[in-house]
Amino acid sequence: MASLPVLVLNSGSSSIKFAVYEASGEERRKLFEGAVDGIGTDLGQFHIKDAVGNTLVDQTPAVPTRAAAFALVAGALNSGEFPRPVAIGHRMVSGGPTIQDNQRITPELIDEMERYTAFAPLHTPIAVYIMREALRLFPGVPNFVCLDTYFHRTMPEVVTHMPIPEEYSAMGVRRYGAHGISYESIVYQLQPHVPGKLIVAHLGNGASISAIRNGACLDTSMGLTPTGGLISGTRTGDIDPGVLLFILRKIAETAESASEAADKLETVASKKAGLLGVSGLSNDMRDLREAIATGNARARLAVDKFTWTIARWIGSFVAELGGLDMLVFTGGIGENDIDSRAEICAGLDALGIVLDAQRNNVRGAAVISAEHSPVTVRVIPPAEDLMIVNHVVRLMAQ
Ligand code: ADP
Repeated sequence: MASLPVLVLNSGSSSIKFAVYEASGEERRKLFEGAVDGIGTDLGQFHIKDAVGNTLVDQTPAVPTRAAAFALVAGALNSGEFPRPVAIGHRMVSGGPTIQDNQRITPELIDEMERYTAFAPLHTPIAVYIMREALRLFPGVPNFVCLDTYFHRTMPEVVTHMPIPEEYSAMGVRRYGAHGISYESIVYQLQPHVPGKLIVAHLGNGASISAIRNGACLDTSMGLTPTGGLISGTRTGDIDPGVLLFILRKIAETAESASEAADKLETVASKKAGLLGVSGLSNDMRDLREAIATGNARARLAVDKFTWTIARWIGSFVAELGGLDMLVFTGGIGENDIDSRAEICAGLDALGIVLDAQRNNVRGAAVISAEHSPVTVRVIPPAEDLMIVNHVVRLMAQ
């Protein structure tokens, strides 16, 4: 069986993360992973580590632009020092209404996805840039897009449809959800015993929660964009639209144009709100827990709002699923923040969710529910890169 080195690319606003896996039949083995951090600065960080954490590259180059950052990645992978990828998988938050399936990337496909930048405004510009660069710098290597929205395509219309005039629905405005590759990877890891009624809470810097029936997504908290749903690090989550109008009118008093006002509103709703907005301190749960320990009331309120919202969503998803077999926590907070898990579950025993304090005192994969808990509660780290490799291998075989 031929073994294929597959490159997975996952880029954020100040970093490019990548990993190369060897795929052979059903076997997947991570060969190495790396990142360029500090894009836009004179002191970036470029590292590559092998699968057991040995450092293969460790540099501190200037990375003034994203182009410079990706040139470092492409330079290393084309140098002959590392196995050259035979395929590349790209994570994409949303491809808009017309691109629903994971597929091979062409310049035309990139243009089409770019038309819907408004559906993932913080992510799409970066992702499409990297796709174009990857086509250019790895000539002849097929590139594939893996959409976060793909997992949510099974949601029924009553869930996805937004209560807005039809003319906007016709423009593709509806609920798409996000974090789908993480959810898929949880279902994948639970195979072959995927519970019929499953809730997965992906609690990272961005946070969302999904109701999954027999392995297929039934409902999810995020909406048209990742700003909807749960309160998260810097995002409002679902909010009375009147609040956004109030803020917009305030901003419009001094803005020079409508588009400037819209951009400022987007910054407020996506980058200045959530845990950061309420605490006035940080979007990082670690900082907030430290502040709570010293009696900071705003940090306490921010975290209470976060856990309260999640508990409410769990309650409504149990109603929607008609019961619950398993609750899974994943993402940076879900995996590491023992207190958040305990606080979310504290009032949920009526739903059959009972944590074991001892078992919950853990970071990383574990069963954390009490022996007698009707619902099993687990912590499972996401395996998004692996999921992308699986999609790439499947699409290459087609
Ligand atoms: P992203 O959403 O950017 O992919 P992650 O899923 O890695 O991010 O989650 C990052 C977040 O996880 C941090 O912002 C922080 O709030 C939280 N986090 C990470 N490590 C810990 C920890 N040890 N304890 C509590 N929270 C943590």
